[in-house]
Amino acid sequence: MKNMYTNTSSCVNVNNVLTDWFLTENGCRQGDVTSPTAFSLIINDLLKELNSSNIGVKIDANLIVSVLAFADDIVLLAENAEDLQKLITLVNRWSFKWRFIINPEKSQVVHYRNAPKARTKFEFKLQENGPSLTVVDSYKYLGVYLDEYLTFSKTSEVLSTAGGRALGSMINKFRTLSDMGHSTYSKLYESLVTPIIDYGSAIWGYKSYNNLDRVQNRATRYFTGVHKFAPMLGHVGDMGWVGNRNRWKINILRLWNRLTMLDNSRLTKKIFKWDMLEHHLSNKTNFCAQAKQVFCELGKKDIYQKIDPIDLNWVKQKTLNVEETQWANDVKKYSKLDLLAEIKPEFGTENYLKVDMDRYDKSLLSQYRYGILPLEIETGRYKGIDREHRVCTLCDNEVVEDQVHFAFHCSAYNHLRVTFNDTCNNRIEGWNNMPDIDKIASLFENQSRLFGKFIKKCFLHRKSLLFK
Ligand SMILES: [Zn+2]
Repeated sequence: MKNMYTNTSSCVNVNNVLTDWFLTENGCRQGDVTSPTAFSLIINDLLKELNSSNIGVKIDANLIVSVLAFADDIVLLAENAEDLQKLITLVNRWSFKWRFIINPEKSQVVHYRNAPKARTKFEFKLQENGPSLTVVDSYKYLGVYLDEYLTFSKTSEVLSTAGGRALGSMINKFRTLSDMGHSTYSKLYESLVTPIIDYGSAIWGYKSYNNLDRVQNRATRYFTGVHKFAPMLGHVGDMGWVGNRNRWKINILRLWNRLTMLDNSRLTKKIFKWDMLEHHLSNKTNFCAQAKQVFCELGKKDIYQKIDPIDLNWVKQKTLNVEETQWANDVKKYSKLDLLAEIKPEFGTENYLKVDMDRYDKSLLSQYRYGILPLEIETGRYKGIDREHRVCTLCDNEVVEDQVHFAFHCSAYNHLRVTFNDTCNNRIEGWNNMPDIDKIASLFENQSRLFGKFIKKCFLHRKSLLFK
């Protein structure tokens, strides 16, 4: 080691031209396997000194955390500005002694506090007469942005941008493969997009974040082939994917399990217990508060109180059941989804999405299901016409042009309906005596390709009649 660091010099390679050699008097060799050890040896004294300062966040009678060190990154923690300045001075003196130079431009301060409280006016300095360190609104630690109020809105912004980009490239690459099935698409989404939008969710995942939900909605919209304003409950329910928040809740409990099983001597475990006590004593909205909420929602508050681990498979099943019940209740409240509520009793992947089908046909079927196919029943809504007056203009029946009328009764499509009916009669038992709603359900279940083609023919014919 001594030889390696005696009389070392370096030069820089710029476009294959080497600069003059210069002596390197401090620092570790980049990329060398011994460098982390060498760095640990030198930094260890500083950490010891910081820890013995008795300044920092008081965890319990015997433990004060004043510094987090990860690779060459050092985070100083204090409960007030004066204490933090003392730690900064200590670090600066140490660096002076060992001939390190701390870059004041790369050193910043974040004042963590509750929302209405004003940011500190304290001027933090490495040394007297030196420049003040900038007080910023967030700090990125291990990829998660910890903003000054701990809202995690910046984290969600950054993750939704990255997740959106990942989804975009996934869609672009596979746009050409029109026969990509539901399971392939789901698998790709799970491996390319969810790891990004779920990053760190064990820490921030209890709240809901619109920007992250938009990423998943875009993914389900793309596959079902519907536009931005399509009712979410429709494509979400038909895809049958677990919602963001439910995945995040599971991640919270996964971290909970790891923490509860850690040995009591571990620093992380001590901080976990302190976090729990802080919530208990002053009702802080910290990690344990989130975990407790999730346990309460699952009806398992006792496990929280006993600080036990929980069976994650049970949690997955339970959250899915809750999601299914919630979906079934919500879908009934939304008038556009009248038809869907009748033909789809349960949340879950629909057969018509598993079938290899023309994208346009699939898109029309989705629009038909979600009440957004531009029939009078839908377009009349934009024109402010009452529901009962959104009458079909293509036949003389004087009835509302809804999905049932369009597919089974409107005389404008009688010529197209003859062969369609014959095929259905051959393929579906009891077809002729079936109520219309059952016919639609049965077509989606087993004859979606046939139905898709029929809807397309009718829809194109409708267009040609209207624009004639
Ligand atoms: Zn009609």
